[in-house]
Amino acid sequence: MKVLVAAPLHEKAIDVLKNAGLEVVYEEYPNQDRLKDLVKDVSGIIVRSKPKVTKEIIDAAPNLKVIARAGVGLDNVDVEYAKSKGIEVVNSPGASSRSVAELAVALMFNVARKVAFADRKMREGIWAKKQSMGFELEGKTLGIIGFGRIGYNVGKIAKTIGMNILLYDVYKNYERAKEIGAEFVELEYLLKNSDVITIHVPLLESTYHLINEEKLKLMKPTAVLINTSRGPIIDTNALVKALEEGWIAGAGLDVFEEEPLPKDHPLTRFDNVVLTPHIGASTVEAQARAGIEVAEKVVKILKG
Ligand code: NAD
Repeated sequence: MKVLVAAPLHEKAIDVLKNAGLEVVYEEYPNQDRLKDLVKDVSGIIVRSKPKVTKEIIDAAPNLKVIARAGVGLDNVDVEYAKSKGIEVVNSPGASSRSVAELAVALMFNVARKVAFADRKMREGIWAKKQSMGFELEGKTLGIIGFGRIGYNVGKIAKTIGMNILLYDVYKNYERAKEIGAEFVELEYLLKNSDVITIHVPLLESTYHLINEEKLKLMKPTAVLINTSRGPIIDTNALVKALEEGWIAGAGLDVFEEEPLPKDHPLTRFDNVVLTPHIGASTVEAQARAGIEVAEKVVKILKG
């Protein structure tokens, strides 16, 4: 049986496939015409956020039994059509949780200690010691919005830092909350009482612009907002207004309503905002884990 690997995959993941006796065809990001040709005789396809596995591609692959996405989002796969044809669709939702959590904590420290600001000034030849006064995280209150895989990992790190932790989630995992010494509260209470707020909910109708003008106004003027979830969970215009008018003290953002973030976007003008280009899952470990996890799932489906 053949498996097409149509995106870069960790070598250990390739080994998992080969060791199970599967023939691996590797071609990085083929265009749609080439992909259509490549899938003719394959039983499995492994992709990342590219290439697109559309209805047309699925129809061109009569032996296809599984489509695997090394990573989380399945936007590039026609999941419904695949399922209607009895083709399984798998991904690796937990592979990057620790990495995203570590980035969220990195952004917290960075904003709290003005690391990016101080670094920019150093490069301009400015010794900005006075302007770089920061604050410690120990003893501060962290509000975690969305206590799932990533939120829980952030909580575990925050506990070791010595932060007090408030949680908001529609589903309450009391056992995990107890493990990190945290308590579930209403969103309004969390926003009013946290020194750092970090967002880890999925993008749904119920979470679109969850953080809007009204919610930003509830936060402390000294509060820092971190977002490594999805851009549209924060109303960007409201956030810009909050930063301009000092409703909050700073932000650390890995995700944006428009990605890539346009050059000269208002968010790039604030000294107290740290920006990263959607790199939450961009670690060696997360990529390896994602590849191995989907390779194992593909083997299980094809080899039983
Ligand atoms: P998860 O499903 O494990 O956890 C999400 C939590 O949010 C769940 O506990 C759920 O009950 C809760 N939730 C859902 N709707 C809610 C609502 N309306 N109000 C309050 N809580 C709600 O997800 P995860 O794996 O922890 O991922 C969290 C976020 O991180 C997602 O938005 C995901 O897209 C994002 N993510 C970002 C990167 C990156 O590169 N920055 C990488 C991976 C995931």
